[in-house]
Amino acid sequence: MNPKLLFWVPVALRLAFVAVGVGLLWWWFGPVTALWVALLAAGAMVLVQLHYLYELSGWLEDPKSSKLPDGWGEWTGVFSRLYRLRRDDEKNQAELTEWLARFRQAMHLLPDGVVIMDDVLFLEWCNPAAEEHLGLRHDRDKGMRVTNLVRSPDFMDYLILGRYDQPLTLSFRGRKLIVHIIPFENRRQILVTHDITETERTDMMRRDFIANASHELRTPLTVIVGFLEIAASEQLDAATRQAHLKLMMEQAYRMQHLIEDMLTLSRLESIDHPMRPERVDVHKLLDKVLRDAQALSAGKHEITLEVQGSDVMGSFDELYSAFGNLAANAVRYTPAGGAVHLSWDDTAAGVRFTVRDTGIGISPEHISRLTERFYRVDKSRSRETQGTGLGLAIVKHVLLRHNATLSIASEPGEGSTFTVNLPKALSAAPHQAIPALAAN
Ligand code: ADP
Repeated sequence: MNPKLLFWVPVALRLAFVAVGVGLLWWWFGPVTALWVALLAAGAMVLVQLHYLYELSGWLEDPKSSKLPDGWGEWTGVFSRLYRLRRDDEKNQAELTEWLARFRQAMHLLPDGVVIMDDVLFLEWCNPAAEEHLGLRHDRDKGMRVTNLVRSPDFMDYLILGRYDQPLTLSFRGRKLIVHIIPFENRRQILVTHDITETERTDMMRRDFIANASHELRTPLTVIVGFLEIAASEQLDAATRQAHLKLMMEQAYRMQHLIEDMLTLSRLESIDHPMRPERVDVHKLLDKVLRDAQALSAGKHEITLEVQGSDVMGSFDELYSAFGNLAANAVRYTPAGGAVHLSWDDTAAGVRFTVRDTGIGISPEHISRLTERFYRVDKSRSRETQGTGLGLAIVKHVLLRHNATLSIASEPGEGSTFTVNLPKALSAAPHQAIPALAAN
């Protein structure tokens, strides 16, 4: 029904009822009594309206803690409509608060930085990633000009030129950032920062690796091509030809070795090639490592092995590759007549594999860089002894996959000690049931 009718029909009925009452009183008791009664009734009605108006104004002052009465007459409908409005309002507000909380949480978790600024670049709001990227603090810097906070000539130029369709690559506080400015709401701007430091670093590593690998492969290849050119252009006697073939073979083996090491490294780094831990028979493993070291030494060193520790959980092949590299290095960098000692023992934290040699040693400034790919202290010695420069990088990756650590102690001219510490979680006491391994 029409809301106007809904309002006026009861009012008209009530007025008609009063008029009929007053008319009856007039007829029964005369006009004076009827008018008095009418006056009293009108006064009572005014009082009722004033009372509800008073209640309503009290409620409007503090709708949260006060309550509206049920009301009388038209007030019942007015109050119930007000209640309904208030309930809807509360619901909307709760939804808005929840949505805002979710938005805030999302902004907190966002890896990209978001800064909201006004049209003259005063900071209004920023998320934690922006604080980290740009060194801002929302509570401290709110209301300050962003150009006074992010002090970088490149950033200033970007703002002055205002070519916001192009992102800016900004080096700031040791990070590489991609910065975007997006105008919105015609008096505000959003600044978005995306950290590409890690991507840049891995890109650079990849570029360096390709450059180094190409260089390493080109050297032996140049030698082989040189000999082949001589063989093609000159008549060589049998002895020279034999000598050239021997040298070419050495270079070919070097290339083969290098490619094998590169493939091993890429397998170790690949997430598609997870480590499958198994119980590793340490005696078998270290006997194999010892035999290889003896074969490489060809009797020129005194090589000893002492095994006291427990078996270990891990990959036999990977540990063989890592320990084999350490033992081979000890032989290769120890002059003939020197000693190499391999040992395996338990520690409070797990098990320990140590390779100690009495070789040429390493100066302290090189130690922290030894596990970098292609890093060598002495390039010619490394090549002379069939080194690829990748041995310790392979060791590092294998140990990473076993949650193990490598420590190096060395004294130039005295010798070196390479120690691998494997954590307890990966070691298993001998003659015990193999514990179920957490995914490693
Ligand atoms: P390479 O194939 O050149 O030996 P590695 O990665 O195995 O490559 O070793 C990196 C460098 O660390 C070597 O070139 C060498 O200079 C040094 N190095 C490794 N082990 C020893 C050792 N036991 N004694 C002295 N120097 C070592």
